[in-house]
Amino acid sequence: MNDVQNKMFLEIRDKELFNQSQKYVLEYLENIFDRNVYPTEKAIENLSIFDEELPTSSTSAKNVIEQLNTYGNPATTATLGGRYFGFVCGSAVPVGLAAKSLGTYWDQAPAMNILSPIGSKLESVVEKWLIDLFNLPKHTSAGFVSGTSTANLCGLAAARYRILQRNNWNINEKGLRNSPKIRIVTSKQAHSTVLKAIGILGLGTENIEWIDVDNQGRIIPELIPELDENTILILQAGNVNSGAFDDFESICEKAKKNNTWIHIDGAFGLWAEAVDKLNYLTKGIENATSWAVDGHKTLNTPYDCGIVLCADQEAMTSALHMSGSYIIESTKRDGMFYTPEMSRRARIIELWSIMKYLGKSGIDEMILTMHQRAKQFAEEIEKIKGFYVENNIVFNQVIVRCDSDKITEQVLSNIQMLRECWLGGSVWFGKKVMRVSICSWATTKNDITKSVKSFEKALKMEITNANTVYKQ
Ligand SMILES: *Cc1c(COP(=O)(O)O)cnc(C)c1O
Repeated sequence: MNDVQNKMFLEIRDKELFNQSQKYVLEYLENIFDRNVYPTEKAIENLSIFDEELPTSSTSAKNVIEQLNTYGNPATTATLGGRYFGFVCGSAVPVGLAAKSLGTYWDQAPAMNILSPIGSKLESVVEKWLIDLFNLPKHTSAGFVSGTSTANLCGLAAARYRILQRNNWNINEKGLRNSPKIRIVTSKQAHSTVLKAIGILGLGTENIEWIDVDNQGRIIPELIPELDENTILILQAGNVNSGAFDDFESICEKAKKNNTWIHIDGAFGLWAEAVDKLNYLTKGIENATSWAVDGHKTLNTPYDCGIVLCADQEAMTSALHMSGSYIIESTKRDGMFYTPEMSRRARIIELWSIMKYLGKSGIDEMILTMHQRAKQFAEEIEKIKGFYVENNIVFNQVIVRCDSDKITEQVLSNIQMLRECWLGGSVWFGKKVMRVSICSWATTKNDITKSVKSFEKALKMEITNANTVYKQ
């Protein structure tokens, strides 16, 4: 046996390495709810320790883990905690973290049933659960991908396949050159990953027929052009700024009659369908053809966990199909026919665990709580002079601004510096705004009040600062 192999056998048998990392994990979890939400300047500076040449020879595993924990841990953002409101992130349900850890050691790749019977089984089970939870057509198929970016890509690839196939054009064989034209109709508020997918698929963003939106960011249904069977209509469940939902009920019915392919980007919002008090928002989604949704946002699975759902299984598997002399197809589920990748990690392990753990009522309660916290945030922040809420709180997003773009920017920067909570900025109908996304199971009423106080402090700092400048 050579030296490195010998060493690795020792490490896997002598449990110290794993005990050490387990100890760090537990310490991390213990502190995550109380620590600064964003890393300190010092912690970020210290990352320079990683700037080194690839070591010439093997080093100690213990030291590798030690370095990672000492310098990596303080430079993490506390997305797992209750006061990280940036982007639309989501925490992780504890059982999901534990299941992920177990799955990590199994190291499964559910490309084919024969490669991972457990991965294949869980994917089949969760596919059914999701269809049931989202009330989608019974014949819908699911692909388990890295996130909604990929799920959007897959849904639109299936749409492209089907529309061209109807025109006697096999996209896989003939490519796009000289192919029949595909129309794309979507909202001016479509998420940038939708545009990215359109670009990657060669459909061209210049070909988009843009539809104007109302003051919440929803498509104005009357402005949708004539639709036909060569059209992909892309709708949104959960606007990334306002959380607003397109009016699926009226739009989808009309589009379906025209045999239009409807794709819904529901990265975080599709989950409204699983909540009794919120599923009025997703009424009509069952009439779409494909849907993209994340586990790692609203459902709080660990990263990376996205799902593409498609009612046209043949289009989806044709768009993503591959074959090879060594591939062993089974009568059970071979996951790779539903995803762009062949090998991928078995993220289904966490997804299954969390759905099994929460059950329907647990999912409902967790998501409704996020909504209530968002409403609480809006109510509390509006009581403070100088803050304005710019959207209707239908789901989990709150858009806040101050009296001017300049003040909003400065206050946001102060909030970020305080590190008591974290959020980012955006532009909403031409105005600079702060966007608060509440999508962690761990956010308590107290977290909201504490964060609102941090906003207040940040505004006071700005006023004091402005006065000082004025006096000088
Ligand atoms: C986050 C998001 C995406 C992209 O999803 P990823 O999981 O980050 O790839 C797409 N659309 C919307 C509306 C989103 O919020």
